[in-house]
Amino acid sequence: METKYVVIVQCDIAHKRCSGFACTNAFYNKDDVFAGYEDSVRYISFTCGGCCGKGIASKLEHLSKRLKSKNDIGKDDVVVHLSSCIVTDNYHYDRCPHADYIKSIVVKKGFRNIIEGSYISKGATKKRAEGIYHCYE
Ligand code: SF4
Repeated sequence: METKYVVIVQCDIAHKRCSGFACTNAFYNKDDVFAGYEDSVRYISFTCGGCCGKGIASKLEHLSKRLKSKNDIGKDDVVVHLSSCIVTDNYHYDRCPHADYIKSIVVKKGFRNIIEGSYISKGATKKRAEGIYHCYE
């Protein structure tokens, strides 16, 4: 599998107060979970659509149709990152209670390449190590 496209799914609630800069910046800097992507890899970010995350189904459906028709990119060429604001205990709040449900929708829509995490905050990592934030790894 050669990755051609990266999707970062953000928490809709976090997105109301977060521009997504840190995740985008981490992607372009190839930090942490983004290490190893070629420069040619394209990137898009959108939210889960709001609780309970069901809206991700139609967004992924729309994306996959456009990727195929406009760029001849298939679902296996895509890696879906569930952002750190969804899958970790973090600055915004604890792990999304619907994270596994959202993941199951992504799989059901045919996207098999899923990674938990995006930008990794040093502060949150420290708090997880100190037991202040929960750790889900
Ligand atoms: S379903 Fe989870 S990720 Fe989506 S808005 Fe609600 S808390 Fe955030």
